[in-house]
Amino acid sequence: MILRAYRAEFDDSEWCVLVHGVTAGKAKARFMRVQPDPWFDNSMWTEIRLKRVPGCDDKPFTFANCQAANFYYLDEDGEPSPENQFHNYCNCSICKEQKL
Ligand SMILES: [Zn+2]
Repeated sequence: MILRAYRAEFDDSEWCVLVHGVTAGKAKARFMRVQPDPWFDNSMWTEIRLKRVPGCDDKPFTFANCQAANFYYLDEDGEPSPENQFHNYCNCSICKEQKL
């Protein structure tokens, strides 16, 4: 089973979070659990937008892996955030293992 990488965000939000999921539905459910903004709740389920980041399938979301997959979190100015501000929100098995 492949842990597929997705970039997840709420419709019209200005931020996104990378999450893994075996299916898009599982990725959405994980996003709901780990996304950092308490303003959102399960009623926003249909507002979640997912985009595949195939370069990070089965790989923990590290700065280097994301860079290799051509994904960058952007800062307020739309510039790629530096490595020291990189944060992995995903709590899947491979990401958890990487954080140990
Ligand atoms: Zn993960």
